[in-house]
Amino acid sequence: NKATRKAIIAGNWKMNKTATEAAELIDALIPAVKDADCEVVICTPFTSLVTAVEKCKGTNIHVGAENVHFEKSGAFTGEISADMLVDLGVEYVITGHSERRQYFAETDETVNKRTKAALEAGLKVIVCVGESLAQREQGVTEELVRMQTKIALGGVSAEEMKRVVIAYEPVWAIGTGRTATADQAQEVCAAIRKVLGELYGEEVAEATTVQYGGSMNAGNADELLSKKDVDGGLIGGASLKADAFGAIVAAA
Ligand code: PGA
Repeated sequence: NKATRKAIIAGNWKMNKTATEAAELIDALIPAVKDADCEVVICTPFTSLVTAVEKCKGTNIHVGAENVHFEKSGAFTGEISADMLVDLGVEYVITGHSERRQYFAETDETVNKRTKAALEAGLKVIVCVGESLAQREQGVTEELVRMQTKIALGGVSAEEMKRVVIAYEPVWAIGTGRTATADQAQEVCAAIRKVLGELYGEEVAEATTVQYGGSMNAGNADELLSKKDVDGGLIGGASLKADAFGAIVAAA
């Protein structure tokens, strides 16, 4: 249940901050989150990962990447493999973010491949799912999120699920300031946990961290995180400011 699951607040920096700027932000983040009761993760652009891993050593901040390629190596110009991330000391990676799906033609199938490759390399994975506004208005949110979750986790074992986090991110709430209501977030996070139960059984479903993401901020984090199936947040905009991110972490 909620009390025994790991709450995770993860920042998704997206395409923000040079490595120099990242160092400054991390210097401000370290004191802002040092008393956290939850796990704290920052997912940075590839170019800031070395700096982030170095700076976060000996702190309670865990470092993640924002994407990973599914092939192990080879002729994939511009791509980064899971082994490359592991070798840097990176611990987490996001897969299936809606911006990757929307702008970089990722599909449920490639999200599945990336998730499996990352798990195989030893990474922890934050798998993102979520509906568009049109899909919500058509009433297919639950079916769609169920399907995205199932396909993303195809071939992932119950043992590997210990390193999987699901982030429910309604596309219409991302970067729009239009947060899902706490009840909407709870409803879909509960539906995700139900699918996990169908796939892996109650024990895995109850143990898996399910986050909400989409315009979560210092003002609304408390209410969202009070819901019984919302175990944390994936934070975009508000993760770029130490005080705002610190306040969300404090709410968890
Ligand atoms: P946002 O982004 O908090 O800026 O809405 C969330 C995300 O895309 O992970």
